[in-house]
Order: sequence, then structure tokens, then C-alpha cells
Amino acid sequence: MNYFSLNNNATAVGFEKAVRLGLAPDRGLYFPQQITPLPETFWDKFLGMSRYEIAFKVIKQFVGDEIPQDNLMEIIEQTLTFDFPIVELDKDIATLELFHGPTMAFKDVGGRFMARCLGYFNRSSTEKVTVLVATSGDTGGAVASGFLGVEGVEVIILYPKGKVSPIQELQLTTQGKNITALEVTGVFDDCQEMVKTAFLDESLKKHRKLTSANSINVARWLPQSFYYFFAAQELMKRKVRNPYAFSVPSGNFGNICAGFIARELGLPIAHFIASTNQNDTFPRYMENGIFEPKKSVQTISNAMDVGNPSNFVRIAKLFNQDLFRLKNVCSSYSFTDKETNIAMQEIYKDYNYIADPHGAVGYLGLKKYMEKNPDHYGVFLETAHPVKFLDVVEKAIKKKVEIPPQIQKILNKKSKKTSIESYQDLKQYLIDHAV
Ligand SMILES: *Cc1c(COP(=O)(O)O)cnc(C)c1O
Repeated sequence: MNYFSLNNNATAVGFEKAVRLGLAPDRGLYFPQQITPLPETFWDKFLGMSRYEIAFKVIKQFVGDEIPQDNLMEIIEQTLTFDFPIVELDKDIATLELFHGPTMAFKDVGGRFMARCLGYFNRSSTEKVTVLVATSGDTGGAVASGFLGVEGVEVIILYPKGKVSPIQELQLTTQGKNITALEVTGVFDDCQEMVKTAFLDESLKKHRKLTSANSINVARWLPQSFYYFFAAQELMKRKVRNPYAFSVPSGNFGNICAGFIARELGLPIAHFIASTNQNDTFPRYMENGIFEPKKSVQTISNAMDVGNPSNFVRIAKLFNQDLFRLKNVCSSYSFTDKETNIAMQEIYKDYNYIADPHGAVGYLGLKKYMEKNPDHYGVFLETAHPVKFLDVVEKAIKKKVEIPPQIQKILNKKSKKTSIESYQDLKQYLIDHAV
């Protein structure tokens, strides 16, 4: 499998190179040259397949021959060590819980898969790699957990100061070992911009070998299509009626873009809903056809506070820049914090279920779509455990949330971080601390 740059100004590369580079030298995102739908024989056996078999068949064409079959299977088995349950809330609404991994957000899947791929590629190398990652809250924790203690890899996390939840901040700053947290004065988009600039900074290359672990990296992005397959398989096993609509709480649009890939491979999901908070660049685009990023605003669903979603270019490519085609498959709505709070209350009152603010945005998007499309069966993605947003959730539902052991164990750990304000600060840090 080869990947080309969506800026069309760099040579195509294989999977390993795409994973190592993260971003193409022309600053473009890598995109697969071909996406081949899964064959009839796959679908004949689909309902009887294990999660490992499904994941293997889904990712194989994107990895090509660059990781041998046995090693790839091992990577998949080590990635998927937790469940992805579908919890039905009502006769036509369910939630897909993606928070049963070690850092309790869906990003554990991509983070773990990518860490293991890079570990495989570095198996006989002595050269140190620096993974530079910008986070709006959850990516950093997932990547840190995936790479913790991995030989030859140093992880540097950039997060916007004061704009991640207290528990997210603890997950970023208490790991120690090969993980470093830098708090940036600014918003997530500033962090993402710094990371992109660092990649293209020739003068840094002699100090550090950099790669990215954001969903711009194909090894982070593509495995996120797995759980759409697991979910659809489960719905089919339960003989839930068609058509299926999936609502994806979206920020940088990597997750929903992985859903579109699943659909491209033949998965029968009829419609996607890109649900956002007040950072509404994508719903505005769907409305008027103009992609006009704006500075991100802070909300209670902070992991989606992205004003310039990186994966937009991949979505545009998938649908051949054709808004009409995109609209056939996808709707998009934005919601305020007030609406999100009311949704958390409603979900708790009506279904006795505690949703996190991101899941609540997903729920709102699903409801809105289903008002006009009541024939669908709807699933909204619960992208993080509510405990990660403890204050917001407890205030909304007026009830204490139980703290699970993964979180309990970091509560009393000592937090360590360094503050930076500009790209120059980042560069200086990377040079001064290079090993
Ligand atoms: C990252 C994140 C999102 C947004 O996912 P994208 O792939 O960036 O669109 C939504 N919810 C939670 C909890 C997240 O951590």
C-alpha cells in the first residue's frame, strides 16, 4: 500500500515511511492510493468472525507487506485488549462505549496500534525517535499510555494550558519515564500548528528524529475504523433493523473519517452524523460549501475544541470534493454547552445512563437527525468515560460519579510539566533536551 500527500507535492511512500514521517514533507496529510472494498467472502463470514480476524482483514491492505502477518496479528491482539460494548438506551437508540481502554477514551485504539507499529519498525534500530503530539485532552494520555516505557521512543505532549480537564491533565503529566508534558499558552490549534512547524523545520532534524501521533498519522487514524465493524457486527447479530445511523462527536475529524473508510470498505452504515460543539467549522461547511476555519472556542466538551480540523482534507478527498455526495452520507450539527448540559440531564433522567459531554453532543446530533429520519436505528459514540470530565458531569446530573481504578491510581501522583509560549520555546526545549 502506498500513501500520497494530499498537498500533491511529495513522493508517495509505503506504510512504514508514512508512519515514521507522520506528515508528508510538503505538509500534506498522507492518504491511501487505493481503498479496495472487502470481498464477498469476508461478508459471508462476517457474523462469525472474531474481533481480531475482522481487525486484521480491515487493516491488512493499508499495512501491505511491511509488517509480516504474524507480527501484525500480534499488534492487533495487543491493541484490542478491552471491550467495545453497545448499550441500548431505547428501542431505536444505542451508545457505543469506546472508553474501556487504559486511558478511558477511544484514542487508546489508535494510540496503542501506532505505538506497537513504531515499536516493530524500530525493533533493530538504535536511533531514538521523538513522538511529538498535540492534544485537546485525550490523545496525549492515550499516546503516553501506549508508548510508556517503549525503548527508543520519547514522547512529548503539547496541550493548551487551562483547557483540558483536571483528570486529563493528570493523565498527561504524571506518567514520567519517557513521557514529557509541555503546557502551551494558547488553544489546541496553536499546539497542532507548532507540531506541524516542527516537522518541517530542517534545522531540528540534526537534533531529533520526529514523528507525529495525532490522527494525521495513518497508524493512529486508520485502526479507528475497527470499532465501526465491531458495532455493526453486534447490531446484525442482535438482528437490529436497518438502516444504521452513527453519530460521531467530532473535533479533528479523524474518528468520523475512519468511519467513512469503514463504509468505503463495504460496511453497511447508511448515514453518519458529525456532531460538534460551538466549534462549528464543519457544519458551516456543510451548510454553505465554504471551508472557513476559525479560532477555536473553549467548551465543556474540550476534546472537540478544534477550529481547523486536520482531517477535513481527507474527507474532501474521500468524497471527491463533492458536497452533494458528502451530504448523502453525512449530516452535521453544532450544539451549545447549554444544550449539552441539558442532554446529559435528559440521558440520565430518561435512560438512567451517565454520558460524558462529548457523548452528549453525539446524542444531540443523533436525535436531531432521527427527527427527520425515524426509520433509522441510531448509535452515538461515547468517546470518553464521564469520569474524565468529573466536575462538568457531576454538576449536570447532580450526582457523584464513581471513580474507576484506572483514574483512582493517578489522583495522588505528582504532576510534572514545563510551560512554553511560542514555537521558539518548543524548538529550544527539543534541542536542549535532545539525547
Ligand atoms: C478526540 C476526541 C473527540 C474528537 O475526535 P476527532 O477524531 O478529533 O474528531 C471526541 N471526543 C473525545 C472524548 C475525544 O477525546
